[in-house]
Amino acid sequence: MAYVYDDQNIFARILRGEIPNKTVRETPHTLAFHDIHPQAPVHVLVIPKGRYVTFDHFALEASPEEIADFTRTAGEICRELEIASDIGQGYRAISNAGAHGLQEVPHYHMHILGGRVLGRLVEKP
Ligand code: AMP
Repeated sequence: MAYVYDDQNIFARILRGEIPNKTVRETPHTLAFHDIHPQAPVHVLVIPKGRYVTFDHFALEASPEEIADFTRTAGEICRELEIASDIGQGYRAISNAGAHGLQEVPHYHMHILGGRVLGRLVEKP
């Protein structure tokens, strides 16, 4: 099996500059921007610039440089937005994948949510 990337997904269009975004941080390999429908006072999406569909795709096939840049950028955003676990009240970092994960946008992204108590991790359907 191979991962199939859809070049027309909305985050690919954001990366090409076809759709605006509220950028939080941009690096050579990573873009972070505010979610258009925030679920918490802080709701940032961190995405790699590479063509990765899900977390497992990114984790298995991205270069060490891409993975390091993505991870460090996510940490810097937590610090910058004052939700980091040392200086703030914490956050939740999650990534939905595929049908069971109810992933809407098929470009790997990490949600960083914070600014309020976030409830239980998983609700029963
Ligand atoms: P997921 O269900 O994990 O694929 O989440 C996709 C997220 O992308 C949702 O939280 C949407 O609100 C968000 N989203 C969709 N379109 C945009 C956009 N143009 N700019 C920012 N966030 C978006």
